[in-house]
Parts: sequence; structure tokens; C-alpha cells
Amino acid sequence: MDTATGKRDCIPSCDSCDEPAVYFNPGLQRHLCERHLCLDVEHRVIESVTSHGMVHDGDLVAVGLSGGKDSSVLLSILCCIVPERWDAEIVAITVDEGIAGYREETIQSAVSLTQQLGIQHHIVTFQSLFGKTLDSLLGSYPLRACTACGILRKKAFSDAAREIAATSIATGHNLDDAAQSVLMNYLRGDFERLLRDSSSMEDRGFIRRIKPLHEVNEKEITLYSMINGITGHLPECPYATTAFRAEVRTLQAAIEYQHPGASHRIIQGQESLSEQAKKTVRPCGAVRYCATCGDPCSGPVCQACGLLAGLKK
Ligand code: SF4
Ligand code: ZN
Repeated sequence: MDTATGKRDCIPSCDSCDEPAVYFNPGLQRHLCERHLCLDVEHRVIESVTSHGMVHDGDLVAVGLSGGKDSSVLLSILCCIVPERWDAEIVAITVDEGIAGYREETIQSAVSLTQQLGIQHHIVTFQSLFGKTLDSLLGSYPLRACTACGILRKKAFSDAAREIAATSIATGHNLDDAAQSVLMNYLRGDFERLLRDSSSMEDRGFIRRIKPLHEVNEKEITLYSMINGITGHLPECPYATTAFRAEVRTLQAAIEYQHPGASHRIIQGQESLSEQAKKTVRPCGAVRYCATCGDPCSGPVCQACGLLAGLKK
């Protein structure tokens, strides 16, 4: 015990004030207290949104709100920083995939948060859009759950965002998610996806997608959520353990632990590769439209319609 301050010696102080630290950022070698961690997270989100021109005056930003901690923290921060800086509106869209024992609680959490923040909340379901819940779709199809879920949820968000004339879709993807996606594409040998420049999506007929949390890691989001009481304990999706991402997450967490800052470097490497590829690889051809639903896509039908056609067979 330090007799002058009365603090326990074993708890380091925040590098920005005298409060006890709750988080150590190994990349930056900084200890932060609750208040300065939250300010630091918000500052990085403002930096990302501003420097990448993610929000403009007149925008209607649709936040993809699953009810989990990432999207709930994203919505809370955007509702705090956007009205002060831009003449833009924020709404939330939740997709109910129909996953028994998981979705009920997370949707309730999403409803409570939007009521608390006083913003419009649209809920769309796989049942109404595709005629079946994810649980029943999987019963007849051997695809891994997360592949089908990801493709159909993306379409559900796009359709719902288009319906309300949203100008962009904000998702809660964080730094760890981005590093995992790069590793997954490497491990699958999917270099087309690895080199794809997502910023070109808008020009090709898609609604612009923005990721304001892309500089914030999962641990920081968890702490931000706990400190601000944004989400409580929520169940995990029963399919999560079967996902390839779950294996890659363990790998990425171990690499980051042993080599702090590795996740950042993985993403920077992918961005450099993508830049180099733009100079040497021929540009993608004119945008095509799905023969079934009319969505922009790269083949004769979009991924969602291809998947649904497979399920019907
Ligand atoms: Fe969908 Fe997989 Fe996420 Fe569950 S873990 S919600 S199946 S993507
Ligand atoms: Zn502090």
C-alpha cells in the first residue's frame, strides 16, 4: 500500500490520470482507467468515421444491430458522436434469423437499447423473407450454419436498408474480426476475396457498408460495454462453436497475445496487397444483376438466391 495515496501498489495507475487502470494496451504500452479507456475508444471511432468519410450530412445510417455487444456498443457510440458532428439520422435494423434458444434474448436486448436511445428500430425475419427460419433451413442443407446465415443475413440487411432508403449500413466488425477474416481467406486460399477492395462496393450498386469499430479490439469493446452498462450477459449462438471462425479466433488471439499488435499488422499487410493488386490485376467487369432478385452481383445469380435455389432442390 502506498501510504501517501492510500492506493494498492499492485494496481497500476492510468497513464492519463491518477485513477486505477482497468486496461493495458500492449501495442501502445499504455494503462487506462475506465474513463480514459472509454474516451480513447470513442476518439478512435471518431477518427475512423472522419478520416474514412463514413458519414456525411443528409445520411440515413442503418446500424446492423444483432443485440450482441459489438453492434450495441457501435449503436451507442454513433448515437453519441454523430448528431454532434453531422446532420445525419441513425436507425437500427435487427435480423431475426430464427435460432432457437439464442435469438429471443439478444432481440430483447436490442429492443431495450433502441428504446433507451430513442431511435427507430426495424426487425426483419428470415421466416418472412425466405419462408423459413435458419434452424429449419439447415435441417435440409449440409452447408455450415454460419455460411448460410452470413449470406442470407447480408441480403436481409440490404433489403431492409433499401426499403427505408438508408444511405449506408454500419456494422459492428472490430479489429479482431478483420484480422480473422484475412487469416480465414488465406487459410481457404480465397485470394479473390482476400484482395477485394470493399470500398468499391458502393460504385457497383451495393449500399455503402461502413465499419466504424475497425480500429477497436474485442477486449476494449467488452470493457466499454461493461463500464457503460450497455449489454448484460447474453447467450452464445449454438452454431458458433461449429464455425471455422471459432478456430481462427483462437489462433488469432494466441498470436496477438504472444506478439502484441500482430492483428493490426495482419490487416495492414492485406491492405498493401490489395493496393498492389489494383495496379496489376485487371479491373472487375461491369456490374451484373441477379436474374432472380435483381440485386447487384458478380455472377448470373446472387449468393443468396443461389443458396435458396440449392435448398429448394
Ligand atoms: Fe449466424 Fe454463425 Fe453468427 Fe450463429 S454464429 S448468428 S449461425 S453467423
Ligand atoms: Zn484515467
